[in-house]
Amino acid sequence: MSLAHITVNSDSSHEDRAQAIRDTLRDAIVDRRLAPGTKLSESEVGALFDVSRTVVRAALQMLAYEGLVKAERNRGAFVSNPTPDEARQVFASRRLIEPGVVDAAIGRLTPAAAKQLRDHLVEETRHQHERGPSARRAEIKASGDFHLMLASLAGNAILEKFMDELIARSSLVIALYGRSGVSSCGHNDHADLLDALEAKDAAKARALMLHHLDHIEADLDLRMKEGLALKDALAL
Ligand SMILES: [Zn+2]
Repeated sequence: MSLAHITVNSDSSHEDRAQAIRDTLRDAIVDRRLAPGTKLSESEVGALFDVSRTVVRAALQMLAYEGLVKAERNRGAFVSNPTPDEARQVFASRRLIEPGVVDAAIGRLTPAAAKQLRDHLVEETRHQHERGPSARRAEIKASGDFHLMLASLAGNAILEKFMDELIARSSLVIALYGRSGVSSCGHNDHADLLDALEAKDAAKARALMLHHLDHIEADLDLRMKEGLALKDALAL
């Protein structure tokens, strides 16, 4: 057994603290008080929350796992900053793949599946009427889930896997660069798309999907800008 196993702190209060710090940082990132690329120094975060660096490191690891933070060897942790080019490539890939998803989904849309999608739209609308960073996260997730439900309907496991990655990357890009307060996927876009799917109008559904993806991309603000200093962003 190595020393590392003995010194790991399994105290649950440490884990609770780490999760609370993760939540506070995540809200500040999604709410865009912390700009992409901001350095999250372990000692500064530790001092602000009055916790050990071990606790800070655990919080940063959770955020890195979610993709919101990038850990760089010997340089420390930073708020993720996919480049504008990467963001554009994500949407270019979605424009290639999702019309195909829509085509395949039309052929397999049962009344039960259509109802599931309708129910999901109700859920999305609920999040759109809430405010604040956690509501925004829930809304981004619900919007992405609509696209994943279509992918799962398409009945192609490989395609579904591509979509998982594309939606995860899009959600991150939208959280980091989406204009705050503007919905990531217009609710009406999804409803219109579903109407076309139910009408089995493949040409219209494909066109609506492309228009929808253009719309999401146009809502991104990919200009680099200054965020707040760590302590102001967290307002502790
Ligand atoms: Zn959408």
